[in-house]
Amino acid sequence: MPFRSGFVCILGRPNAGKSTLLNALVGEKLAIISPKPQTTRNRIQGVVHVPKRKGKGGGQIVLVDTPGVHKPDSSLGRKMMVEVREALEGCDLVLVIMDVTRKFDPRDQFALDLLRRPKTKAFLILNKVDLIREKSKLLPLIEQYRKLYNFAEVVPISALKRNGLDTLLDMVIATLPAGPAYFAEDQITDQPARFMAAEIIREQLLLNTSEEIPYATTVMVDNFEEGARLTRIAATIYCERDGQKGILVGKGGQMLKKIGTSARLQIERMLETKVFLELYVKAEPGWRDSRRFVEELDWRRQLEHRMLEHGTPQLRTSQDRAPEPLAREGRAEKSGAPTVGIAGDVRNPTED
Ligand code: GDP
Ligand code: MG
Repeated sequence: MPFRSGFVCILGRPNAGKSTLLNALVGEKLAIISPKPQTTRNRIQGVVHVPKRKGKGGGQIVLVDTPGVHKPDSSLGRKMMVEVREALEGCDLVLVIMDVTRKFDPRDQFALDLLRRPKTKAFLILNKVDLIREKSKLLPLIEQYRKLYNFAEVVPISALKRNGLDTLLDMVIATLPAGPAYFAEDQITDQPARFMAAEIIREQLLLNTSEEIPYATTVMVDNFEEGARLTRIAATIYCERDGQKGILVGKGGQMLKKIGTSARLQIERMLETKVFLELYVKAEPGWRDSRRFVEELDWRRQLEHRMLEHGTPQLRTSQDRAPEPLAREGRAEKSGAPTVGIAGDVRNPTED
């Protein structure tokens, strides 16, 4: 039984469950060094080690993200189309994840069109089957999707309840070519907490605002300082228009306060420490169209740069406050928008 390995991309429209699946598969582990040059276009999101089991060989799945594929509506997506296609060609397998509770939508078609050109090997992942009571209802759906693309496998799962994931992993490993483990265990580290913090804040945005707002926003953690008893976090929510900013801030700052408080509570739970969270909102017109800006927002890129400069990674240490936000300060000033901020309530502000 040969050891199998390869690069796998998860594709799907917002809310399909990509992050949930990724987290369920990868857990807290994240690869921070890319040994293959091609992975500059395919950003590593995490690595799954599948141990050798009875009658089945082991393997390593490197989950990658292809920038731009999830944003077909912005010029960011259009400009990067060529790169996206090339990135997909660099993948051994694409997992197209669909929410079974949603109707097929042009955005789903977009994902399938991307695959068609490079003729990528793809699995159809039908997610959220826990929400479907009569499983027989899935059959016509499977039929419909099979007509749209020649999927190698169709796998119903619940990423949230972690159902069907072992089957999925078996199928993925069986499909990958025989190859080496690209990552040694010691090349895989805990996911940097600052990224998780940004994700939690974004999640709270999604939960608290209507559909239009979240996709026009991104969150950047500007500062992350771990003290002995308190972690100080400053983060900026970027939106595109003053109107959106108004909604995000809310009457008398109520919305921002609400997002900030619930995010802080979750981050405290994650870090198991008190957190002082400062949250800012800035309107940055057209941020999605500015590739440079999008790249600056990407902490992984920042981390990679930093590692190239400093050598060994030093995550979760006091030195991890670096990834300097590059040109962020200057641009924020230029936009002339006043910073709106709230601070999460803090019980021990003198710490650190
Ligand atoms: P993404 O935008 O594709 O990354 O989607 P997320 O992973 O953020 O998931 C979007 C929403 O769907 C979240 O509220 C998840 O909790 C929920 N979700 C994801 N997978 C499942 C699932 O298998 N079952 C159910 N019921 N909800 C799910
Ligand atoms: Mg996501």
